[in-house]
Amino acid sequence: MLLIALASLAVVGLVFGLWFWWACTVPTSKFFRPALIRGPQEGKRIALTFDDGPASPFTEQTLAILRAHEVPATFFLCGKNVEANPDLARRIVAEGHAVGNHTYSHLLLYFQSRPRIAAEIDRTQEVIEKVVGYRPKIFRPPYGARWFGLVPTLRERGMHLVLWSATGYDWKKDAPGIVAATLQELKPGVVILLHDGRETRPAGQVDRSFTVQALPAIIAAVRGRGYQFVPLQDFLPST
Ligand SMILES: [Zn+2]
Repeated sequence: MLLIALASLAVVGLVFGLWFWWACTVPTSKFFRPALIRGPQEGKRIALTFDDGPASPFTEQTLAILRAHEVPATFFLCGKNVEANPDLARRIVAEGHAVGNHTYSHLLLYFQSRPRIAAEIDRTQEVIEKVVGYRPKIFRPPYGARWFGLVPTLRERGMHLVLWSATGYDWKKDAPGIVAATLQELKPGVVILLHDGRETRPAGQVDRSFTVQALPAIIAAVRGRGYQFVPLQDFLPST
């Protein structure tokens, strides 16, 4: 009897653990709300986003492709990377793209205290404002990981939590794989996640050449299917 009770408890614990992991991690989970995962589904509009920059030379290469194809994008920047590459952060904005907050040190937010989460966000807001002249209104957590205290911290600052609904899995795939994965999830209103940097690693430890190689093919295929690239801003509730 005791064994059965213990086994049941273990199963319940496991199921709860899996559910809790899903709730904090998977972008489509609505456990921490509100969050922008996907924009309006009327019209064939999609938004392109890049995380973990600025990181040379991949941010420059990404910007050159976006400029050549006249595609607007949003870059979720880490404060530490902005400090290391202020000119690149300014260039992102000068070329008409938007920037968002992706924490200072690419911190995994699980089990972090609310003051620690707030400090990561605030330090990045200050760095970005100093460099590009404005404080972003959008935040994306590293790894998509949400934790208690994040949503109220963002609300206090008038910021939106942004996740994604399509990705090229460019942290593990080669260029053709990135193109295929991105297109597989293409639907009206999707927010596409790609990367122009890698966490807060220094130059020399970052290689986003597969993403850069994949980008022109993604742009061509997305447009070929009748979709239009719009700024992520268009998907946010107007305030
Ligand atoms: Zn990231």
